[in-house]
Amino acid sequence: MDLGIKGKRAIVCASSKGLGRGVAEKLAEAGVDLTLNARTEATLRATANEIADKYGVKVQIVAEDVTTETGRNALLKAEPQPDILVNNAGGPPAGNWSEWGEEEWLKAINNNMLTPILLMNAILPGMIEREWGRVLNITSGSVKSPISSLGLSNAARNGLTGFVAGTARQVAKHGVIINNILPGSHDTDRTKGFLERTAQAKGISIEEARAEAYAENPAGRYGTAEEFGAAAAFLCSQYSGFIVGQNLLLDGGAYNSTQG
Ligand code: NAP
Repeated sequence: MDLGIKGKRAIVCASSKGLGRGVAEKLAEAGVDLTLNARTEATLRATANEIADKYGVKVQIVAEDVTTETGRNALLKAEPQPDILVNNAGGPPAGNWSEWGEEEWLKAINNNMLTPILLMNAILPGMIEREWGRVLNITSGSVKSPISSLGLSNAARNGLTGFVAGTARQVAKHGVIINNILPGSHDTDRTKGFLERTAQAKGISIEEARAEAYAENPAGRYGTAEEFGAAAAFLCSQYSGFIVGQNLLLDGGAYNSTQG
């Protein structure tokens, strides 16, 4: 399917690996020129070169921490007029409610709520003026179904979700479409680390920990970055113009619900 976005320009935050990279690949496959971002320059450059070679699109990199003002300014300087913005960053650490003080809360709110909001604030006026734009925020399945140990994430990401719910409905009439995409467990470095910690805590092998995790999911496995990227690319496509302020959950059916 031609997504109708060939020649558009996208910023994809936190995209040298994992889900961000999956989205970047599928946008590139659709002919979108990219500005990629991550903190580690060598990995980011390698990813950018591979994507440019494979799909023949223009790819530039901004090796900065997107959760800082300096990082965001560098991204906006490199690509001041993106047609597509994909917000992403690392998630807050796991822990317990009793351990989180003001510092931890401010960091989580900055990284997973304020950073995407500030990027949207900077980019939406241009999209509205040009009467076309797509913004997609990578949040988490924990927005719908809380993971107790990820309270920082549950809360900060729900703050972002609340902002998007109202704002998406204000800008849609200008051809600017904002949605959220909610990963359940996907096979990335982040989940590899989680499986390693589970295996260690339970005194089992990583393969056994993986088998246990897969058995808990109705699909019997984790999702892939490729599947995630394809769904994300559709939400950034010409055909997503009537999908406004939605939260698309990709979790293999793990969230047990009759509707939504
Ligand atoms: P990942 O495989 O660890 O990849 C993270 C990517 O983001 C890397 O390219 C990393 O590069 C970059 N990054 C991290 N922090 C950054 C920052 N502050 N500024 C710029 N780049 C940054 O992670 P993932 O699994 O793709 O997860 C992506 C997001 O989805 C996270 O917020 C995670 O919490 C959420 N999520 C993931 C899953 C899952 O199953 N994978 C499930 C629910 C939610 P550098 O380290 O070089 O910066």
